[in-house]
Amino acid sequence: MTDVLYQSNRVAQIPPYVFAELNTKKEQLVRSGIDVIDLGIGDPDLPTPRHIVEKLIEEMRNPANMKYPNFIGCAEFRQAVAGFYKRQYDVDLDPDTEVLMLIGSKEGIAHLIPALIDPGDVVLIPDPSYPVYRVATAIAGGRAYGMPLTEANRFEPRFDSIPSDTAERARLMFLNYPGNPTSATVDPDFFGRAVSYARKHEIPIAHDSAYNMVTFDGYQAPSILQAEGAKEIAVEFGSLSKTYNMTGWRIGYVVGNRHILKALATIKNNTDTGQFTPIQKAAAFALNGDQRSIAEHNRIYRERMNVVLDGLASIGVKAQLPRGSFFIWAPVPTGYTSAEFVSRVLEQTGVILTPGSAFGPEGDGYVRLSVSVPNERLEDAMSRIKQKLQLDGGVQ
Ligand SMILES: *Cc1c(COP(=O)(O)O)cnc(C)c1O
Repeated sequence: MTDVLYQSNRVAQIPPYVFAELNTKKEQLVRSGIDVIDLGIGDPDLPTPRHIVEKLIEEMRNPANMKYPNFIGCAEFRQAVAGFYKRQYDVDLDPDTEVLMLIGSKEGIAHLIPALIDPGDVVLIPDPSYPVYRVATAIAGGRAYGMPLTEANRFEPRFDSIPSDTAERARLMFLNYPGNPTSATVDPDFFGRAVSYARKHEIPIAHDSAYNMVTFDGYQAPSILQAEGAKEIAVEFGSLSKTYNMTGWRIGYVVGNRHILKALATIKNNTDTGQFTPIQKAAAFALNGDQRSIAEHNRIYRERMNVVLDGLASIGVKAQLPRGSFFIWAPVPTGYTSAEFVSRVLEQTGVILTPGSAFGPEGDGYVRLSVSVPNERLEDAMSRIKQKLQLDGGVQ
């Protein structure tokens, strides 16, 4: 009997999940007794700080918190986000109209697209980038236009090379700094240029700032809302996931232009019913409370990055030390595609990397390494790569 494929054309057009093949290989290796080290995951290994967990438990005991939550987020959470913007960026936000709670920023990003575009509209998407921008655009019937991020352009899109008819049909642009997967960071003047381009062409900007607080060596990631006139055209997504190691909690927010937020809220009000109130209250507590864990986690990531960079250097791969995110974006040795290099490393060393091509065609030629495993495991991974990896034509 053959299986009938029950799926829409929308779903059928979604390309096969790149991580699935790697996962199958990983399972095979684990079954054959190999100690696999996974540097492919973008999920912090460190726990949520204890005071946040304690606050969740306390809020769980209050029966008033068991009801359907407020759709746009409880007042404490929205005020906490506005307070964070004031302290961190000196940006004023109205908690009632310029802050919207999300069930993780991924949820908000996916729902923003049908809130702003119609079938056939163009969405400007960095290439390489977080896959949700592209896939959610395809599901909404939109057309993705890839803005190449290259080393030569410091992984910043070149707005002047976007064709004018494309700009005309564009209804949304995504940006993401510190970036996944490139780990690129920007200075405030970049957002100034992005906002003035967007205002000229009337293209809303969605800036994904998931790694806004994962930064090193004194670098502070700017907010797009600091740019002149940004609130007229831009929104910024933020998340508790990477800042406080709360990926599984599912809580984030979007701030900025009130009309864009209202369009997104219309989709959300008819789709989900918000996040469990104790989670929102614990998240507010995280934003308002002791911030020392952030510096401590960043110190750990920074140290791990040195281990990775030394390991890569030992096989002749030169990668940059980033100012933010927990990724290293490294070129693959000459003569390999990302996918070939990743398979070879996995087969010969049991170390999982993510091929850059998983994030868009411009990602080919790179791999992404995540520093979300402890130092000892990273050292083990790097010494295996140094000792066991054999490349055709030797090491460059
Ligand atoms: C992890 C990640 C997200 C998703 O964050 P959640 O708030 O957990 O949904 C969004 N964007 C980028 C670039 C990420 O790496």
